Amino acid sequence: MSILTGPMRFHLDGQKELTAHKAVLKLPEPDDLYIPLVNGRAACTPTVKEGDEVKVGQKIGEPSDGFWFVPIFSPVSGSVVGIEKRMTTMLKPGDHLHIRNDHKYSAVRAFKKLDYETAPREELLEFVKNAGMAGLGGAGFPTFNKYTKPDGIDLFIINAVECEPYLTADYANSMANPELMRDGALALLKLSGAPKGKIAVKEDKKDLIEVLHKQFDGTPIEVAEVEDIYPAGWERTLIYMLTGKRYDRLPAEAGCILNNVSTCIALGNALKNGMPITEKYLTVSGDGVQNPQNVVVPIGTPAAEVVKACGGYVGEDCLLIAGGPMMGRTIPNDQFVIGIANNGLTVLQHREEFSVKCLRCGKCTETCPSGLMPVRINMAEKAKDIDALKKLSIMDCIECGLCTYICPSKLDVTEGIRRAKRYMTLVK
Ligand code: SF4
Ligand code: SF4
Repeated sequence: MSILTGPMRFHLDGQKELTAHKAVLKLPEPDDLYIPLVNGRAACTPTVKEGDEVKVGQKIGEPSDGFWFVPIFSPVSGSVVGIEKRMTTMLKPGDHLHIRNDHKYSAVRAFKKLDYETAPREELLEFVKNAGMAGLGGAGFPTFNKYTKPDGIDLFIINAVECEPYLTADYANSMANPELMRDGALALLKLSGAPKGKIAVKEDKKDLIEVLHKQFDGTPIEVAEVEDIYPAGWERTLIYMLTGKRYDRLPAEAGCILNNVSTCIALGNALKNGMPITEKYLTVSGDGVQNPQNVVVPIGTPAAEVVKACGGYVGEDCLLIAGGPMMGRTIPNDQFVIGIANNGLTVLQHREEFSVKCLRCGKCTETCPSGLMPVRINMAEKAKDIDALKKLSIMDCIECGLCTYICPSKLDVTEGIRRAKRYMTLVK
């Protein structure tokens, strides 16, 4: 596969000032929460049943699959109403555990705290697994899995780049919790076996850079400022920017291991306070919401309640995107809930875009950071040409949205690629 052939030099208008420096709103806990029974990518079996009482921090679900092991914990105290199907941000129905909140906040300690500095490596790894740590940058990949057998890793990278326009949740979380970030990052550095680490942050985030220096100077983790380009936060781009190395399948081929900064903070919280991931920092932004701001919400809160807490929609014709405008997905209603992999809601006023036929200008191909030919993939998808789709390496698409962004014909090229991926999954 050819990678990194695109120019990767897109400075997008990030619109981050809409939320970055506003106070973070802690949302009141809703009366009813719907906890997704897929945590990140792991399908969970509930460990509680209808009518059971639950407490904050109590384990309520566990995957049977050891590889995708990410247990789930209750964000509130209350009673289990049952299992309900709701639409997920993947636009598919999924099982959710409905909990009615008693607003008493009765809590249990989910697990014992752990001193990562003195704990043996195996004990630390088990802790990461049982605490339900997963990639909070959107991937939801179980964290322990990356560190089970790290081999030949010489650089641990913390991704605090947050290159997606509008989103500032990682930034707000890092500014609010620098010590937890430090603890989590140093614990993961220990698990990685790497002699050193780098925390990557955009060069324009001067206040965060100062905070990072305060936390990491004198440790083996160095603060690395990166250019404000898109998609600098994608791991292939980031590894290339930090090391000059490319890889085919996994970052380990380039001697690197990565985690998102919010995952480090969640791990710091678990180590220091014995608390699992029960809430998320989330950016609610865009010109379609009255008061764009960062919020902290319990997992399982319906998106409708989050938008309402930010003043509601500015009008009736708004698009709701789970995530940012480049990599997020437009969701047809606001009844889906916030899960561990959600980091933003972007609400945009709907503006009619008139598309014209493809001009064959080749700009999408020149731009694609994965070295794909988006226009040809779109053509093959329309023709349902499975042989052509196989040859076009469509599964290497990271859905960065640049081909749509750049297209002068205003074609939603990325959506065509998503359709092609779904088609390939169905026919293979
Ligand atoms: S969304 Fe488009 S530009 Fe981005 S990786 Fe996929 S094909 Fe390439
Ligand atoms: S950028 Fe748009 S118009 Fe140009 S080749 Fe790609 S799909 Fe066609």
